[in-house]
Amino acid sequence: MVNVLSKQGLIKIFIDPGHGGKDPGAVGNGLLEKDLTLKIAKRVKELLAAYEDVEVKMSRTGDTYPTLSERAKTANVWGADFFLSIHINSASKTSTGYEDYIYTKASAKSKEYQKIIHAEIMKKIKEYGVRDRGLQTGNLQVLRTTNMPALLTENLYISNPDEAAILKKAAFIEDVAQGHVNGIVTAFDLKKKKADDKEYHTVVKGDTVTKIAKKYGTTIVKIKSWNKLDDKYTVRIEQNLRVK
Ligand SMILES: [Zn+2]
Repeated sequence: MVNVLSKQGLIKIFIDPGHGGKDPGAVGNGLLEKDLTLKIAKRVKELLAAYEDVEVKMSRTGDTYPTLSERAKTANVWGADFFLSIHINSASKTSTGYEDYIYTKASAKSKEYQKIIHAEIMKKIKEYGVRDRGLQTGNLQVLRTTNMPALLTENLYISNPDEAAILKKAAFIEDVAQGHVNGIVTAFDLKKKKADDKEYHTVVKGDTVTKIAKKYGTTIVKIKSWNKLDDKYTVRIEQNLRVK
């Protein structure tokens, strides 16, 4: 019997770094929310590049301000499978923790993804002593006006000096980004790209580059360049040649 795996096709993840440009978002303890959200979002995008069949689009990649309706519209027009908005919280000096939001009338899929992603993010950031504020719902514009499952994460309080100190750590940005990625990977069952598609051949007596190229369905020019061979295509017995 043969197991036929149905291919789910390309998963489109839309990442929305909160605020930007003229809108700094929350400001506190020497930090701007718009800078942190962009840093985390860019890292999420980079880390997702290690997975197969996933495409990422961002609402902004620099210090610009797309309006909230532009952000939602871009994701809707693109046909995103998931909308992820990244924010930093702000309230008092003593407010603490991580929380995330789905729309008050969110779909079952949004609820499912929130549970998964929330758990994965907490797993990565609890070592910093971050309090879990739980799964929230809210009537937030980007969640209400996007046509696909959508989540908005609030990553610690910029207004709290202790949490601002954590937000200043590169290791925390890496971990919180990895948490978002782990959540998306689990929610959408993404598979890691194969690390290495290269193939090698050990030269035996009688081998020539022409023969080897023919055997592996490649060209002598490619083999020459991969292995930095001389113009006479000299190879020696036992040499490990890259052939793919
Ligand atoms: Zn915000």
